[in-house]
Parts: sequence; C-alpha cells; structure tokens
Amino acid sequence: MKSQKILIIGSGIGGIASAIRLAARGYQVTVLEKMERPGGKMGQIKESGFRFDTGPSLFTLPHLMNELLHLNSPIESHDFKYKKLENICRYFFEDGTEINALANPLDFAGELHAKTGEKEDHLLNYLNRAKTIFNSTADLFIFNPLHRFLRLAMKTKPSHLKNIFTINPLRTMHRENKKWFRSKHVIQIFDRFATYHGSSPYLTSSIYNMIPHLEHNIGAFFPEKGMYNIVEVLYRKAIKLGVEFRFNTEVTDLLTQGTKVTGVKAENEILKADIVISDMDIHMFYSSPGKRLKKPQAIKKRSLSSSAVIFYWGMKKQFPQLDLHNILFSKNYQDEFDALFNRQELWPDPTVYIFISSKIVPADAPEGCENWFVMINVPPFGAEFNREYLLKAKHNIINKIKRLLNIDPSPHIVFEKVATPATLEANSGAFRGALYGNNANNIQSAFLKHQNRSSQYKNLFFTGGTVHPGGGIPLCLASAQIVEKEIERM
Ligand SMILES: Cc1cc2nc3c(=O)[nH]c(=O)nc-3n(C[C@H](O)[C@H](O)[C@H](O)COP(=O)(O)OP(=O)(O)OC[C@H]3O[C@@H](n4cnc5c(N)ncnc54)[C@H](O)[C@@H]3O)c2cc1C
Repeated sequence: MKSQKILIIGSGIGGIASAIRLAARGYQVTVLEKMERPGGKMGQIKESGFRFDTGPSLFTLPHLMNELLHLNSPIESHDFKYKKLENICRYFFEDGTEINALANPLDFAGELHAKTGEKEDHLLNYLNRAKTIFNSTADLFIFNPLHRFLRLAMKTKPSHLKNIFTINPLRTMHRENKKWFRSKHVIQIFDRFATYHGSSPYLTSSIYNMIPHLEHNIGAFFPEKGMYNIVEVLYRKAIKLGVEFRFNTEVTDLLTQGTKVTGVKAENEILKADIVISDMDIHMFYSSPGKRLKKPQAIKKRSLSSSAVIFYWGMKKQFPQLDLHNILFSKNYQDEFDALFNRQELWPDPTVYIFISSKIVPADAPEGCENWFVMINVPPFGAEFNREYLLKAKHNIINKIKRLLNIDPSPHIVFEKVATPATLEANSGAFRGALYGNNANNIQSAFLKHQNRSSQYKNLFFTGGTVHPGGGIPLCLASAQIVEKEIERM
C-alpha cells in the first residue's frame, strides 16, 4: 500500500469511481460525504411499497462500469446485471403520432419512415456520422484532460483529425439536425439530446450530435435492480478495496500551505491529506470549502444548465400504452427552450418525461401498480420557485398527459413525492438544482469546462458531472479516469 492519503469530498458517481481507482492503485482513500448515504444525484426513495430512482434513469456505455468493477479483483457475476433495451424510448406528439426508438437502427429507420415518411437512409447516415465524430473525438475531448489536447492531437490518427475538421462547431445542434432530416418529429427527437447536458438544441454546438451514437449504435441499457444498484455495487467495490466512507460529514474549508492543500476541515475536525479531490458541484465548491480560491472565468460567468421538477407518483394501475422511457413532446420546442434559458419561466406546454422502472423491475411497485417518475425541465430557479410555481407545474404536466395519452393520472396516484430545484440543491448539493453545473449553450462552454486539476494547488483535483468532460454517468466515470491518470503523473 502507498503511504499517501487521499481525501475525496462527496460520494457522487465521480467520487466513488475515483475512490475505487485510487484504492486499487494502493492509495489510502477516505470519502467525506455530507449526507447519510452514497450516490449524490443518484438516489432512491423506498416508501409505501414503491421504489423510485430519484436522479439518472438512462444508462449507457456499461463497459465503463464493468471495467471499474473488475479493477484488481473480479466481481462475482451476480453482483451487477443489466439488460439492453429493445425499445429505447417511446415518443408521443401533439398530433397523435407515436414513435418507438427501436434499438436496432434498421428497425428504428423503418419505424421513422412508417410514422413520418423520413427516408430510412437519413437515419442510418446520421448515426454513422455520429459514430465517426465520437470515435474521432472521444480520446481528445472525453477521456483525457483538455490541457493535454495538443500533445494528444499530435499523436491522433490523421483520419481522425480529418474527421474532426469536418465538424463545424459553430453550427447549432438544431441547424445540423435540420440538414439531415425532413420530418419535424425526427428533428425534435434528435434535438432532445441537448437536454442530456442541460442545454438548448437551438444554442448548443453540433459537436454534441455525437450523443445519439451512444444510445442508438451502442445501446441503451438498464440495471436489473434499477439505477440505484449502480451506486450500491460501486460502494461495495470501494469498501472491498479498503476505502473508508464517512457519512454526515460536511467539508467546510480547505487547509493550504503555499501551493499545496494539506487537508480539510470537516465538522470542526481537521483531516490531513496528501491529495484532495472534490466531487462537489463546482459552483458549491467555490462558495464553501474553496471560498478563498481564485474563481476561474467559467465559474464567475456562471451560465447554468436546466434544473427539473420531478413528481414521484405511485400509481394504483398499470398502463400498457407506456414503456420504460416515455417522452411527451411540447408542440413548440423552440418556445419551450426560449422560456427555459432566455425568459427563465415555466412553459405551459412542457415536454414531459415519464420513466417507469417497474416495467423492468417488477419489485419496484406493488402488484398491479406502477412507479412513475414524471419530470419536466425548468430553469435553475432560486427562492422564486414557490408553491404557486409547483402547482402550476403539476397542472401543466397533468394537462399534457391527459391530452397526449388520454389518461387522467390524478385518481390513480396513491403516493406522491416531489423534487424541485431547491430539494435537488438540498439533497445532492446541485447549485440552484442545475442538473449538470454550467450549460453548453455556447461554443466556449464546451471547451471551458472546469479542469480536473487545480491551477492554484498542485495536489487538488476535481471529478464529477460539473467538471471536464461533463455530466451524466459515463462522463463522471471518465472524469475519475482522468483524475487517476493525473495523480499517477504527479
Ligand atoms: C433528475 C436528474 C436526472 C438525471 N438523468 C440522468 C440520466 O438519465 N443519465 C445520466 O447519465 N445522468 C443523468 N443525470 C446526471 C447525473 O446524475 C450526474 O451527472 C451524476 O450523478 C453526478 O455525479 P457527481 O459525481 O458529479 O456527484 P453528485 O451526484 O453531484 O454528488 C456530489 C456529492 O457531494 C456531496 N457534497 C456536497 N457538498 C459537500 C461537502 N461540503 N462535504 C461533503 N460532501 C458534500 C453531496 O451530498 C453529494 O453526495 C441526471 C441528474 C439528475 C439530478
């Protein structure tokens, strides 16, 4: 075992993944977590016979999880099981059109053609292009720190560099999608991928048109025991490797000497460390333990991603017209994003996402029942999000469900809990409930993500969804890989 001691602030997915990687390397790792459980934004509610995943619901790139779970010692085969979804998402539109995003691209192309008239090769060419962009850029922009960009670019295959030069990063996601597709519905389906980093398709760069490659070429998956099982297996793996977790322990200050961090202050206790890693929301980090640090430009400028209002509804009935992932699209997507990012208001006709894990994990709801996770995106509201806003949001959601699904959900709800921007902030430390830290609504933000290593203190590192390479489970796992590599290079 190495003698160096590492403290990690926060047990979100990036924090636990970093802990596993570094413990496997022989470091002595302690994770300090202010809540009473691990997982951060990835949480669960278990009440009245229902279980709900409270945060992420879509699982892609499972090989990143497998790699982590197999570090040093193989996990037992029953520990983490997941299945590939045959239908990735069911989309509903105001004009009555219903589209299944079938896992096999050929089937999906057939479905799009049958429902919208879109030529089949449009989708197949689009997905090929997404694959090419991903394969050419992933090493440069995702699995390595940006400050090594030039060095890596020199080693990158000429064919990959050639592909990168064909991307016009100044073109928006929506404009690029309009180039590839004729059908408004198909364009809306692929514009939605901007919300995977809490941004607007009318503002974010077309570089992000590589995201559908993950879902539609590689696949969308679901853990057999639900999303929170990801946290449970990672936590167990970390414990097995000797990681110490201290819950109900809030870090309030960093101890520094010259250009080094020497430890942290947590619950009035001083804890010494050779290396400190923050997995906190980066805005929260600079307002509390890192309050004396120089704020980088991206933090000062603060351009937050969307937040959400989520209703967790226990339904006393099952609804065969719904699948695991369901999207009820707004009629005017551009107006919806304009309300979200420019006017910062609730949009009366929101896009509603309904996620029902009990479709795959029957134990998540009592017999004959379903567990509905019903989410709309909202601006990262502060104190102005009061009860009146919440009632309005619920009213808008129920109207949308009635219109598009012909279901009045109200009489079937036997359990209800709700998450708002304020509760997301309280429960996971997400600043103003922003799901992904800063948004990627301009080209600089794609390249101005907070770095994984501090420019001020050489033994201070950052992981998680609000720093490079970005939000979502796969990118958090990638950020842990980068932190590990950077620490090993010290
Ligand atoms: C509603 C919702 C839906 C989402 N959907 C998806 C999805 O479908 N697919 C996907 O891939 N991603 C999704 N995401 C994003 C994904 O959940 C996040 O990117 C990821 O979980 C963030 O992990 P993290 O490592 O940044 O840590 P976080 O989850 O942000 O956790 C940070 C941890 O730090 C702790 N902490 C904060 N301050 C302190 C302190 N001072 N001292 C000690 N501990 C502290 C917090 O309590 C928390 O546990 C979603 C997120 C949300 C909220």
